[in-house]
Amino acid sequence: LIQLYLPLNILGFAYREIKQGLTDMEEMFLLLDVPAEIADAPHAPDLVVTAGAVRFDDVRFAYRPDREILKGVSFEVPPGRMLAIVGPTGAGKSTISRLLFRFYDVTGGAVLIDGQDVRSVTQDSVRRAIGVVPQDTVLFNDTIRYNIAYGRPGATDEEVEEAARLAQVHDFVLKLPDGYKTRVGERGLKLSGGEKQRVAIARTILKDPRILILDEATSALDTRTEQEIQAALRDVSRGRTTLVIAHRLSTVVEADEIIVLEEGRIAERGTHGALIAADGLYAEMWRRQSEAVAAAEAAALAQAQA
Ligand code: ADP
Repeated sequence: LIQLYLPLNILGFAYREIKQGLTDMEEMFLLLDVPAEIADAPHAPDLVVTAGAVRFDDVRFAYRPDREILKGVSFEVPPGRMLAIVGPTGAGKSTISRLLFRFYDVTGGAVLIDGQDVRSVTQDSVRRAIGVVPQDTVLFNDTIRYNIAYGRPGATDEEVEEAARLAQVHDFVLKLPDGYKTRVGERGLKLSGGEKQRVAIARTILKDPRILILDEATSALDTRTEQEIQAALRDVSRGRTTLVIAHRLSTVVEADEIIVLEEGRIAERGTHGALIAADGLYAEMWRRQSEAVAAAEAAALAQAQA
């Protein structure tokens, strides 16, 4: 049985999932909630990924019948473009990423990838097409090589190292006692959040998906590590259709479209410039976040001078 590095509160669930045949690390991320019983339709074909267009068509969703979480959400992400999803905690941002990954089936409307309803194709093929870089990466208690190669079983050492280089984690690995053979995870070397995230990025580069889901860290301060991770994420998302649950100003500024989710509905949408000009909810969020960043930077500066 594979040992996983996980917070205690989800261990019971994780164990059950593993027994059911866990096939993908990303399932760990998206399944931190109650797992759904999604079955493939009989004789369902595989998803045929061409350009990697993503469409949500009037999507409705409820985890429980008495409480609708998404109340008619529609958007389109053209191939290779980036959609940023912002909004308060509980608005339904993660739910959107879970529905795209088809951890749950919609209760109304449809989720389409390259024109195919994700309910009409195999789950495996949907999950192969999508890479996920979560906020908190789960590492296997195994070597760092294994953890990166997980993105593409059978990858050569050269491919693993190339992915690590692109994710800016290669130099770090070389300094470890056993290089790529160093054991990490709970019973091995513990990596920092930033290091783990780079491993996740390297894994995603190896997987080479057409579609990407990024879940950004929530911290407001742009530390150097975070900036480096941002740069690596920007590299990996280039040319891939990307949905980002965005918490960083620099991300939303660059997104092709931003949707502001509020209580399961799209309250505002547009580019950063258009939304600032509209002076609504987004503009208000932007002001508050800018102030928080400025305050944090001032505090850090004061501390450095003390
Ligand atoms: P966000 O990512 O915007 O913070 P989520 O999509 O995680 O929001 O959650 C939206 C709402 O759905 C929240 O009220 C949350 O409590 C609820 N929710 C999330 N996961 C589950 C679940 N597995 N079962 C029941 N309710 C859930």
